[in-house]
Amino acid sequence: MNKKVDYLIVGQGLAGTFLAFELMQKGKSVMVIDKGLKYSSSRVAAGVINPIVLRRFTVTWRAKEFLNYNPFFYEKLDKYLGKQYHFSLPLKKLISSQDEIDFWKYRYDKEDVRDYIYKELTDVKENLFPTEKFKVGLAKQASWLNISDLLVDFRANLEAKNALLEEEFDFSSLRTNRYKNIEFGRVVFCEGARGKYNPLFKSLPFSLNKGQLITVKNNQLPSDSLLKKKVFILPTSESIFKVGATYSWKWDTSSEEAAHKIEPEKTELLKTHLEEITTSNYEVVAVQTGIRPSIKDRRPLIGQHPDKADVYMFNGMGTRGCFMAPLLIDEFINYCEQGADLHKEVDLRRFL
Ligand SMILES: Cc1cc2nc3c(=O)[nH]c(=O)nc-3n(C[C@H](O)[C@H](O)[C@H](O)COP(=O)(O)OP(=O)(O)OC[C@H]3O[C@@H](n4cnc5c(N)ncnc54)[C@H](O)[C@@H]3O)c2cc1C
Repeated sequence: MNKKVDYLIVGQGLAGTFLAFELMQKGKSVMVIDKGLKYSSSRVAAGVINPIVLRRFTVTWRAKEFLNYNPFFYEKLDKYLGKQYHFSLPLKKLISSQDEIDFWKYRYDKEDVRDYIYKELTDVKENLFPTEKFKVGLAKQASWLNISDLLVDFRANLEAKNALLEEEFDFSSLRTNRYKNIEFGRVVFCEGARGKYNPLFKSLPFSLNKGQLITVKNNQLPSDSLLKKKVFILPTSESIFKVGATYSWKWDTSSEEAAHKIEPEKTELLKTHLEEITTSNYEVVAVQTGIRPSIKDRRPLIGQHPDKADVYMFNGMGTRGCFMAPLLIDEFINYCEQGADLHKEVDLRRFL
């Protein structure tokens, strides 16, 4: 049976999910094609939202704009699915040397980070650190998106609307405004790391990045805040914490299975970093890897195909998809529907 939709979306990671949701909110019809890859970056992501890089105390790109927009978007999504996925979470940076204390104070005096960290450092209250020297610096405006539950629930919602095709996208079946029996106005590729191999957008400089994180069971770590030292410790459910994440730039690319192979030395590294924070016993209950869709210049990759007016890409969410995607999706839809300009730093034409 033939079907007609405004938008055909390839990929139901975070990007495809947010795009489908926002389009439906605006009264547009969608069909999403997703193979259900168990390895997608969004399935692995911890879902931490943090506007500041706590290693160097730099404010991330367009942080204020994303922070202003996110509550509006996530509240709307929570309401639509009838469940809360987005939570405020105090972020505690653990500080263990005088140099770090001095640097915190020095950075606080710079105006750009004052909106994102509190000045005062406090003593550690939790009785679980291997050294008494720790101090805690509190970062403002951090939050957590329960992205794994959100993807599963949104997928069920699409299925119930007959708006999901679980299959590998077949490029040989793509014609202008048509894919197999589906007539569409626009097709948007939201393929994450796989975008690197999209035959329609060959020359885009993806700089993919592999990440690994572990999930641990522990009864003593605090469940009311996100801890950060060399790694973050994120409480996700009772006694369960995600610890991560690693960054690698080289891996076996011979197959998807090979690319996502768990790296035992990274697991050991994460455990070592965890043990620098807590002496309490824990059990590793899961290890996951994913490939972040990063771009050479660390900016998103969004826009229209240079020659095919019905073909678009929304990609390049890199390490901060949960933070950036809501506003970027809104801007992308305005670009498609109203002819608004894209932010110059995200437009894929910068590489063409
Ligand atoms: C270890 C790790 C930790 C992370 N932690 C965080 C974090 O705390 N906070 C944060 O904001 N970000 C984090 N990220 C980054 C985040 O995962 C990405 O920014 C984001 O998820 C990218 O989403 P996406 O939808 O663009 O791509 P993906 O999540 O990769 O989704 C792409 C989808 O497209 C489908 N697909 C692709 N090609 C095809 C095809 N040809 N046919 C059918 N389907 C196809 C796949 O099945 C997949 O579902 C982390 C990443 C990793 C690896």
